[in-house]
Amino acid sequence: MAATKPATRPENYITKTRTCWAWTGPFASNGEPLYVTQRGSKRARNVMYEKHVRELPSSALLSPKCGHDWCVCPAHQKVVKV
Ligand SMILES: [Zn+2]
Repeated sequence: MAATKPATRPENYITKTRTCWAWTGPFASNGEPLYVTQRGSKRARNVMYEKHVRELPSSALLSPKCGHDWCVCPAHQKVVKV
């Protein structure tokens, strides 16, 4: 396989505040944190939730209970649509 640049881990875009995990990467026009890789972009909240809580269908939408659009902390997410 050709040498490719390793994808940047989503953790590299997170700054943990006292209560939340603040996303410092790109955002979609609707304010949703986006994790962009060479294979496309994913919802950063879903990526972190799947990593720490459980797998989600690709249609799942998460909403931060803490009220911060930039927060990707898995414990703060509520599944609003599956
Ligand atoms: Zn939060």
